[in-house]
Amino acid sequence: MYTRDNYAASKQEIERRRLNAINTAEERNAELALESEEIREIDAELKGTGLLLFKTACMGGDIEEIRKRNVELNAKRRRTLVKLGYPEDYTDVHYTCTACSDTGFVGTRMCNCLKQLLITKNIQSSGMGNLIDKQSFDNFNLEIYKDSPDNCKRMEKNLKIARDFADNFARHHGNLLLIGTTGTGKTHISTAIARVVISQGFDVLYDSVQNVVSDFEADKFRSGYGHTDSVSEKYLECDLLILDDLGAEFTSQFSVSALYNLINTRQNKGLSTIISTNLSATELAGKYEGRIYSRIIGSDFTVLRFEGKDHRISR
Ligand SMILES: [Zn+2]
Repeated sequence: MYTRDNYAASKQEIERRRLNAINTAEERNAELALESEEIREIDAELKGTGLLLFKTACMGGDIEEIRKRNVELNAKRRRTLVKLGYPEDYTDVHYTCTACSDTGFVGTRMCNCLKQLLITKNIQSSGMGNLIDKQSFDNFNLEIYKDSPDNCKRMEKNLKIARDFADNFARHHGNLLLIGTTGTGKTHISTAIARVVISQGFDVLYDSVQNVVSDFEADKFRSGYGHTDSVSEKYLECDLLILDDLGAEFTSQFSVSALYNLINTRQNKGLSTIISTNLSATELAGKYEGRIYSRIIGSDFTVLRFEGKDHRISR
């Protein structure tokens, strides 16, 4: 569900927070001990009662008196801190997340703070940039299609299919082909889906067909020089791949076969793909050999048609 890199980076961030909280408390304790004789004395006695408590408990002795003294000393310490002008919890360890004390887990359950970090990391690695902050289902404006009732109806239907796709992603993997001219809302719908899917903890990648094909080309070139690491593998593995602008790439025998393999492999693995294109179905048929065309226009993809004026211009 999460890429290994994103998980490792998130865990590392949580660990950094935890160490930071502990270090800050230790530093404050050390400074206070230098500053105040009274604190030094209390700390020395606390250390003594702590040890005594442990020893007595181990030998099965009565710890009640020692425990009481311990509580008294801690209260005295807090009062002293306030007297010195600090908050009474100044030297406590202040974790960023109190639910998990910056460990990332509450028992065996992943804490929300770690989930949140993973989502942020997934957004950063998705390739969607800051689009994802701006475009969501909530701000998809159907008003802009109202000049044509047919169009409005079509967009309402598209929106519903897209929402269902996103909401049910965990249960049902499918593919979408978004077809229509520039500025008719394809990118907005893609981003809105990505946002929902990422927030469910899935790993999403978004890029233009041109860039994806270039990465496959780069890998092919590099493997000729004995390199085994891959920049294109991620496209075969992510939970949702959004391929933007099919048909705008430079078409070659290599690009067509790389694309076919990509779509086919993801299909075989049961992984979802969204493809958007400015080309019409006829233009797609002309540009790609039968097997790609039949894959994406055939039963494997749900086709959503976008029509209307270019809203990026009319706005
Ligand atoms: Zn937490």
